[in-house]
Amino acid sequence: MKYQAIIGLEIHLRPKTKSKMFCACANGSDDLPPNTNICPICLGHPGTLPVVNRTAVELGAKMALALNCQIPEQSKFDRKSYFYPDLPKNYQISMYDRPVGVGGWLEIEVNGTSRKIGLTRLHLEEDAAKLIHVSDGSLVDFNRAGAPLMEIVTEPDIRTSPEAKAFMQELRLLARYLEVSEADMEKGQMRCDANISLRPLEEIDDLKMYPKTEIKNLNSFKAVERALEHEISRQTELWEQGAPPKIQSTRGWDDAKQETFEQRTKEEAHDYRYFPEPDIPPLKFGAGVGEFDVAKISASIPETPSAKRARFISEYGFTASDAKILIEDKQVATYTENVLSELFNWLVSIEGSKTKAEKTWSSQKKDFAKLTSGWLSSKLFKLLNASQQSISEIKITPENFAELLGLIYQNKISSSAGQTVLETMFNTGADPSHVIQEKGLVQENDQAKLETMVKTVISQNPGPAADYRSGKQNAIQFLAGLVMKETKGKANPQIVQQLLKDHLK
Ligand code: ZN
Ligand code: MN
Repeated sequence: MKYQAIIGLEIHLRPKTKSKMFCACANGSDDLPPNTNICPICLGHPGTLPVVNRTAVELGAKMALALNCQIPEQSKFDRKSYFYPDLPKNYQISMYDRPVGVGGWLEIEVNGTSRKIGLTRLHLEEDAAKLIHVSDGSLVDFNRAGAPLMEIVTEPDIRTSPEAKAFMQELRLLARYLEVSEADMEKGQMRCDANISLRPLEEIDDLKMYPKTEIKNLNSFKAVERALEHEISRQTELWEQGAPPKIQSTRGWDDAKQETFEQRTKEEAHDYRYFPEPDIPPLKFGAGVGEFDVAKISASIPETPSAKRARFISEYGFTASDAKILIEDKQVATYTENVLSELFNWLVSIEGSKTKAEKTWSSQKKDFAKLTSGWLSSKLFKLLNASQQSISEIKITPENFAELLGLIYQNKISSSAGQTVLETMFNTGADPSHVIQEKGLVQENDQAKLETMVKTVISQNPGPAADYRSGKQNAIQFLAGLVMKETKGKANPQIVQQLLKDHLK
């Protein structure tokens, strides 16, 4: 590729508040019959006065702090004028030069490489109404009008479509960890506009920027990725024809055709005739002082996904990829930590003292982590997915899950028996030792017993035995299978393999 993509994103998140941004109408009831969740304020009737939703401001500041933004002492709302039927006042209350958060960054990882994506700002504003286009015109549903939004604008730091997708996913995860927004793209709680231009690779150091194209309203992670890919190849072609985009333009994304299409050439900021909103006093932020206490908001921020990911690696010995999977959902991460703490308790009971258990734990930390992540992510998650349950509905207590891991770790049951036990535990919530006893699944580890069986199997199957001796490695699996069958699957497979090898020498 001879060109580098310069990508910036503008992401709108719907804060989790009870009411709209400036009135008492409910937030998040877009599904109600059209125009039933409205009042004179969100309909923009003359003479009405907006009142700022405190929670929306606090959630915006919380997100801004977690995104490493500076919180200025004062922030204010402005009127952004534009004329469109989805906007009853003919202006949107937004923020122009005094946003809630300035600067900041979010770290993302793509293919094992981490990058910090810089942020320009985070500001608050109100949502517009929804337009429904019908055969003989357009209808307006104001239920969404005036709903709160926080808009996060990145610097043009993103270089590839997978980076854009990773940024969106990390942002969504952070919003969910912070409980500032559900950030569900399908429900319109997270929406994305992407800005993209290309730059010839030889000009990489000049930091020169060419007119950008804005792709509007990307409503899924896939749409963001595909639209950017489409735009990169479209603009590459234009560059190769010697006719790169000369002016800023706005394009839409056609999901059916999987391509972007031109909508209009871009208005400059002054076209919006921003001016201070006279009906809303400025917001004052300060540490321990002012209308919004930044220290208090800061203290309400929980461990972030990236911090948790790093801690899962350092504290428990998870691999980077396992840590990534396990923290993807906050409740799964909590469940995992509870299982690990119960697994340690189980180890204490086995080893007889906390000191001994600590020694074993620290020397075999990575094995415990691998065992835990394997049984959670490749086995338990499958059962959850298949039954469409979330981890909060699970019947298996962390204590029982840890006990199952302990039994597998001690070779008391084979991993195939473990699978059966897990399924039963999943369906009934029973504890593993009961299930094992009931189903007679205790693993046969008795060397002498197994050796007798191995000898019998070898003498009764001279053909496969001779095959193995003459170099057919696979023949041993057939013989091992017979021993497993003989023990109804309870024989310890490692011991059986070893015994067969010893006796087939
Ligand atoms: Zn209202
Ligand atoms: Mn906006």
